Amino acid sequence: MLSNKSALVTGSTSGIGLAIARIYAANGANVTINGFGEAEAIEKERAGIESEFGVKCRYSSADMTKPDEIAAMVAEAEAAFGSLDILVNNAGIQHVSPVEEFPIEKWDAIIAINLSSAFHTTRAAVPGMKARGWGRIINTGSAHALVASPFKSAYVAAKHGIAGFTKTIALEVAQCGITVNAICPGYVWTPLVERQIPDTMKARGMTEEQVKRDVLLAAQPTKEFVTVEQVASLALYLAGDQAASITGTMLQMDGGWVAQ
Ligand code: NAD
Repeated sequence: MLSNKSALVTGSTSGIGLAIARIYAANGANVTINGFGEAEAIEKERAGIESEFGVKCRYSSADMTKPDEIAAMVAEAEAAFGSLDILVNNAGIQHVSPVEEFPIEKWDAIIAINLSSAFHTTRAAVPGMKARGWGRIINTGSAHALVASPFKSAYVAAKHGIAGFTKTIALEVAQCGITVNAICPGYVWTPLVERQIPDTMKARGMTEEQVKRDVLLAAQPTKEFVTVEQVASLALYLAGDQAASITGTMLQMDGGWVAQ
């Protein structure tokens, strides 16, 4: 489905991004993965994608807080594979804290990684997509792009920003063969969710089980975590030609959360 295409997925050494990179590779795309982690584990994942799916896979260590590194990552991805057809802005971090105690550096990092990095990648990738007359930009939004929860001011602000950015760029490139959409998952069981449990326990004075049941899955009517494979399958659909008329959307995959 994606042979002769190349994809760049930010924040793809783990969780949702890794699942998206893998499903694109499984469908024939060459992929550039990006993110942090142990060098050995990342190399194992990169080489595994190549051998398992018979595509090329590159790794970029670009830090999504650094605009110059982001621009270089996009240029290198395009040069290495001859095009950059599918851009997935997925890197993200979380911090849970009441606003009056919210560390300023955490606010800045969340806005940079979860929001501004999508601007920097998109700005660098759109000229090539326009020249080729085809492109897919898929942003990992969140239910928190559409509704709020307390103690997540930076994350909710960044994800609402992603919603506005997605719609704006969709309009700008609507006649260029490029679609721009956001996938808005509810709670997906990944390291990002696992890591926020201790802070939520502290902020709300709850046990781990209470946080899972009464905070995380309380919002999700299905009472099930979304899986990374489910999110990746939607990202695959959006990357195909069949999704050419889907643009500027916030596609919820949240077990009914935002329907309430
Ligand atoms: P994760 O922690 O498993 O993955 C995050 C990825 O981003 C990792 O590869 C990490 O190395 C990378 N990353 C972090 N900081 C970076 C930086 N400065 N530069 C480059 N890479 C960086 O988390 P996840 O749950 O898979 O989250 C992926 C995306 O999905 C995020 O945008 C997150 O907000 C969003 N999301 C997650 C959930 C959920 O419940 N897990 C729900 C909705 C949206």
